[in-house]
Amino acid sequence: MNLLKLNKQLSLIDPSLKAEVNIDNCLVLTGEVDDYKLSVKAAKLSLDKKKYLGLINDIKVRGKELYMKIPSFSDISLDNKEVDVLVIGGGIVGASILRELSKYKLNTLLVEKGHDLACAQSSRNGGVVHVGINFSTHSNKLKYCVRGNNMYEGLCKDLDVPFERKGQSTFARTYFEKFILRCVASTGKKKGIGLLKILSRDELRKIEPSVPDWAKGGLWMGTGGITCPHRMTFAMAENAVENGAYVSLNTAVTSMELKDNKIIKVLTNRGTIIPKVVVNAAGIFSDMIANMADDRTFSIHARTGTDIIFDKKVGWMAASSMGKTPFTLSPSQIASLTHKPFAFIKATINNLHSHSKGVGLIHSVDGNMLVGPNADEVYDRENHSTTKEVIDKIIEVQKEVQPLINKNDVIAYFTGLRAPTYEEDFVVRQGIRTKNIFEAAGIQSPGITAAPAIAEDMAIWIKDYLASTGVDVKINESFNPIRKSTPVLKELSDEDRNKLIKENPNYGEIVCRCEEVSKGEMLDCLHSVIPVHTIDSIKKRCRPGMGRCQGSFCMPLVAKIIADDLHINLEDVVYKTQDSKIAFGKTK
Ligand SMILES: Cc1cc2nc3c(=O)[nH]c(=O)nc-3n(C[C@H](O)[C@H](O)[C@H](O)COP(=O)(O)OP(=O)(O)OC[C@H]3O[C@@H](n4cnc5c(N)ncnc54)[C@H](O)[C@@H]3O)c2cc1C
Repeated sequence: MNLLKLNKQLSLIDPSLKAEVNIDNCLVLTGEVDDYKLSVKAAKLSLDKKKYLGLINDIKVRGKELYMKIPSFSDISLDNKEVDVLVIGGGIVGASILRELSKYKLNTLLVEKGHDLACAQSSRNGGVVHVGINFSTHSNKLKYCVRGNNMYEGLCKDLDVPFERKGQSTFARTYFEKFILRCVASTGKKKGIGLLKILSRDELRKIEPSVPDWAKGGLWMGTGGITCPHRMTFAMAENAVENGAYVSLNTAVTSMELKDNKIIKVLTNRGTIIPKVVVNAAGIFSDMIANMADDRTFSIHARTGTDIIFDKKVGWMAASSMGKTPFTLSPSQIASLTHKPFAFIKATINNLHSHSKGVGLIHSVDGNMLVGPNADEVYDRENHSTTKEVIDKIIEVQKEVQPLINKNDVIAYFTGLRAPTYEEDFVVRQGIRTKNIFEAAGIQSPGITAAPAIAEDMAIWIKDYLASTGVDVKINESFNPIRKSTPVLKELSDEDRNKLIKENPNYGEIVCRCEEVSKGEMLDCLHSVIPVHTIDSIKKRCRPGMGRCQGSFCMPLVAKIIADDLHINLEDVVYKTQDSKIAFGKTK
């Protein structure tokens, strides 16, 4: 659509809306609307991937201000710190890049504004190592998903993180859907995806016993896997630190100073850092970071995704990852295409490139069943709340696949905020205008899968860039890819347990009965290479509070272990951030 026509259409949404092209050939939208959904509508209407480098949505929502939570304290612990590479964001992408960079003799620092690594998208997701079937041929999503998927098995072995290649299946409701899946499989093979098979219902049931009766068969994708996304993030970062990198938690980047198209200073709540290169892996805030660096060519629009966690006793309801074929053509699209069979099939296949990849039912590496996610555009990028309506809707939708789903078996739920650009693809490249920033932005699903491959490319580009500026980048000869996880008591044989308890009686003191976690395992988290001191961090690392009772019994005990270890009062132990106190004083 030409600019004149576009501006006319935008004015119908709100007279204040305007589209202009900037010097980087990005389409910039400005103006004000009353409802955020109208801002998203205007942006989607304006999108022209072929014509413009990117879409920047600067439309304001009347009466609302976009904000980013930063830690409530400041100090000067990082003031004037000079580093070769500063990685912003401690999700799986930032942590993977840090690890790849630790293969070189570089001074690298990762800063994370949250109380822990993986505190945003990277701990609020399904943990599926996707096959990439639904991503379009020339997308970064497809490229990094397929490569990342291939890397997972070896990486998880090296880093001692759970990984299972159980496969993934999509069921067809009709023979037409089965035919479409056949077309999808054949394009999938051309995309470089292996182990794709169209199977009958009975054949599928040999792999996934919970295939619904209505299924006319489906697509089996053998390269699909499952991992624990937050443990993978911790492991990546810990291995990087073991190899010489640094991590600073509770550290938010608030602004930058530039000179001659280069970032020269990065301001944080803990002082000013002086980096040679900056990596933008800030997830949902990656457009704000790009803006600070004067390198914004994209906008992020937050999209929620809620997943429901079911008790392990019903874990059998999904043996792998499965769901119904996500056909989402609107009735008007269907009506306009029914007389054109080829156009209809093409549109249906294209429609499978759904923007938010969601599986349906997932068997997690810990034995729970995860059900979800949904997708809803939201303005507030820090609001992870979950509503009853969303839970009810997800259960209603997924009951079609597994009719035995029962709300009484729900033990927890979470909502993550996906970080898509309007182009719905990853932005993985060197800065356009600012040369010493490297963007790993707009990483929504399949970001868990893609992170290791993105990191490989990033590290090479950064090394080459630094070399081009005269920095002598040497290989880190002592890089050790192996990271050993601390003992997980319930996975040990009786003999090994007894030996461990004899050496250290703390492993004999079970604190979380649901998940069988000992005091010794919690102390290991408190003393790890990236020490963490919050209840949430210990929960994510060794699982106290992840079971059926959700911490009702063990949370006070975990708090006491933290207080004793740090020699602080129980009232000073926090759940997540410094403000999230759990105790306010003695009652007796
Ligand atoms: C519901 C849901 C389900 C998903 N399921 C899957 C799946 O099954 N498989 C899959 O492959 N992918 C999945 N994804 C996608 C995947 O979770 C993300 O793509 C991935 O976690 C992105 O990682 P990241 O490191 O880019 O971002 P994040 O994990 O969001 O990390 C970015 C970090 O940057 C920090 N940060 C931001 N601003 C600043 C600042 N100014 N200073 C310092 N730090 C800052 C944030 O606090 C955050 O920790 C899912 C996502 C959602 C929401």
